[in-house]
Amino acid sequence: MDGLVAFDPAITLQDRWFAPPPADARRSLEPHRGRQGLVCFCSNDYLGLRDHPQVVEAAARLLHARGVGSGGSRLISGDHPLWHRLADELACWLGFEAGLTVGSGMLLNIGLIQALADRHTALFCDRLNHASLIDGARLSGARHHRFPHRDYDALEARLARCRQPRRLIVSDGLFSMDGDCADIRRLIELAERHDALLLIDDAHGIGTMGGDGRGVTTGAGGHPRLVLVGTLGKAFGGYGAFVLARRALIDGLIQRMRTLIYSTGAPPLLAAAGLAALARIREGHERARLAANMELFARLRGVAVESPIIPWSIGSDRAALEAADILRRHGMEVVAIRPPTVPRGTARLRITRTARHTPEQIAALSRALDALRPAAG
Ligand SMILES: *Cc1c(COP(=O)(O)O)cnc(C)c1O
Repeated sequence: MDGLVAFDPAITLQDRWFAPPPADARRSLEPHRGRQGLVCFCSNDYLGLRDHPQVVEAAARLLHARGVGSGGSRLISGDHPLWHRLADELACWLGFEAGLTVGSGMLLNIGLIQALADRHTALFCDRLNHASLIDGARLSGARHHRFPHRDYDALEARLARCRQPRRLIVSDGLFSMDGDCADIRRLIELAERHDALLLIDDAHGIGTMGGDGRGVTTGAGGHPRLVLVGTLGKAFGGYGAFVLARRALIDGLIQRMRTLIYSTGAPPLLAAAGLAALARIREGHERARLAANMELFARLRGVAVESPIIPWSIGSDRAALEAADILRRHGMEVVAIRPPTVPRGTARLRITRTARHTPEQIAALSRALDALRPAAG
């Protein structure tokens, strides 16, 4: 061992690469959580389609016909006609000329912003945008302005000063950690007035929001300046993501989007599941049950019906963990959301309601929230 430093992976990794986080900031993977008789109030499977018999059966049929993997990039050997059908049906439903499915929402946003923006582009991003949009913006090398959450006057002032030839406004639709929505009409007006494209990622809104589940851009679908992103991982109960826009833009993405070109195509069984979920969403039974649960909760607590997401503000990381513990003792699984997922000092419980909850479970949630120290929300 002369001259060699003994390598103790535990010590070396912690000291040099991963400084151990403080106990109340530590994240953990615990697959058993939520499976011990707790009622889950933190799932994004808003419509309960994850294990809906029609969705499962559609996926199983493709599994048996085609196997698991796609076998390659979609540009080489990994494409399947069902991905095209799903993209077409999504485009048609949401009012766009064309669509493209790509990996997951994380992969899609990282590739999409890189494909749309370069150092001659100015990006204008809501400060509370999802991490995938932030990472895409960083990787693109574009000039990158972040405006305060939903402060469109600040955005307009920035746009008015911008001298870059290409401008892209980027925002979540329904904000995942706050449960509030971007003002799409205002954003489209700003995009028109300042010659910008508008990218809306409505991962949580599509399937749940708008009278018929078409999300926060309902009524604006197909606008020539709008690029709409959605995921199959939330209300669709599956895995995958899609982008909808003018056909010329979608064609351009196929040429340039690195996370499409250099990644294995998603399993075709996920396209089959996506199509079956889309059919359920368009029929609307699950969404009606979700709406009834949202209304019941609003009535019990005397608050407005806004979205399936309730951000129960707490503040400190430790208090948020304690609050999650209290709910666990009431038989409910809700995870404490802490920085850096949300800004420092705004740790919270992110409570979601789904179509699967019974009225009794919603009433029990409301009672359990009374056991928490008074919180805004
Ligand atoms: C969840 C989420 C994503 C990521 O989508 P995945 O399909 O889970 O990778 C992207 N954008 C927003 C706004 C999200 O909430």
